[in-house]
Amino acid sequence: MHRGITTTLLHADRNGVVEHGAVHKPMHAAVAYGYRASRDLAAVFQGRQPGHVYGRQGNPTTAALEAKVSMLEDAVGTVCFATGMAAIGSMMLALLRRGDHVVASRYLFGNTASLIGTLAGIGIEVTLADATDVAAVEAAVRPNTRLVFVETIANPVTQVADLEGIGALCTARGIVYVVDNTMTTPALFRPRSVGASLVVNSLTKSICGHGNALGGAVSDTGLFDWSAYPNIAAPYRKGDPAGWGLQQIRKKGLRDLGATLGAEHAHRIAVGAETLVLRMERACANALQLAQWLQAQPGVACVHYPGLDSHPQHERAMRLFRRQGALLSFELDAAIDCFDFLDALDLVVKSSHLGDTRTLAIPVAHTIFFEMGPEQRRQMGIAESLIRLSVGIEDYDDLQADFAQALERTRGAASVPSAPVPVAQAGTR
Ligand SMILES: *Cc1c(COP(=O)(O)O)cnc(C)c1O
Repeated sequence: MHRGITTTLLHADRNGVVEHGAVHKPMHAAVAYGYRASRDLAAVFQGRQPGHVYGRQGNPTTAALEAKVSMLEDAVGTVCFATGMAAIGSMMLALLRRGDHVVASRYLFGNTASLIGTLAGIGIEVTLADATDVAAVEAAVRPNTRLVFVETIANPVTQVADLEGIGALCTARGIVYVVDNTMTTPALFRPRSVGASLVVNSLTKSICGHGNALGGAVSDTGLFDWSAYPNIAAPYRKGDPAGWGLQQIRKKGLRDLGATLGAEHAHRIAVGAETLVLRMERACANALQLAQWLQAQPGVACVHYPGLDSHPQHERAMRLFRRQGALLSFELDAAIDCFDFLDALDLVVKSSHLGDTRTLAIPVAHTIFFEMGPEQRRQMGIAESLIRLSVGIEDYDDLQADFAQALERTRGAASVPSAPVPVAQAGTR
């Protein structure tokens, strides 16, 4: 019988071997796995028999989470990593060779953009293209293009990639299409539906959802024909070609680079994921209402949110995503200092994280996008006064009241005295 995704997730751990009736997959701390028969050990090593050999390459708790991410993404398999960046970096290094070409979105998570720069420095050719327009991506493709990398909704200006158009392009050209689904999560969108070959999720964000564990995942949708991919090494060209890409990512990426997700964090992420759909419903509803309200306030110059009619890719976001995300950004009138405004917020946490249960705000040009400099910020559409909000699941009225009082206090006034810092917080700076 076909069950809904939340039901499926909640009961997933009772489908396999259940220890003591436990409803959660237990946390397996062992690094080593012993076998009575040494031939079994050899068979597991050679991939002829399922099993675990050494904790860096995975353990049963992480494997249970990998199965859940595969269920969420409708994928044939998933490899988890210690962080989202570890997932992206390990995947790239496992699949690319010197002389290969990558087309990446010009609107990327800052650390991914930095990583792409590292690749360019080690002989992988890179072109950044405006991913909101498939024509720009197509114009960037070369005969040696192996991989196209885009995000669903970019952070912080919320550009929505031409996900369908780029999917059709990659399918026609036989290029690996990687979609970072972190901003939408599988609760709003499945990249498989637009032809993605691989799906990346930072599990740290909405999937874990509570800001208490780091993790990342690469899932294979089963749509790409790995038998046609030139960079699969001989040992991984075995069995069903559908599994070749992920096999190489697990061996060359996870095993050789070693950014392994530990069992305790895998457990926390799995527990968080149980409420992913509920949290996304609430956070996205809050984000939409707040975006609409902010847009109407004097003192607010503009609001970027794909759920607003004024958003350049509004129609696309409405068509592709169940809801339009929990992230928005806005610019204040020039007379209001963004730091003064942020300091006037009581409830909202000034923090760089996103996808948390709590609402978080950050002045992006001065923090997470500071390192890249004004020119690249301008190309990414990031204004110097831009404030990014990751909207949480608070009661909506409390959020609006906090923004209302902060606007009230800073509008017109050149600056306001900032609230005194509580002693406990001051000590942790
Ligand atoms: C946070 C984030 C990442 C990196 O994830 P970490 O778990 O922090 O390493 C990658 N892509 C996007 C879109 C993100 O928001």
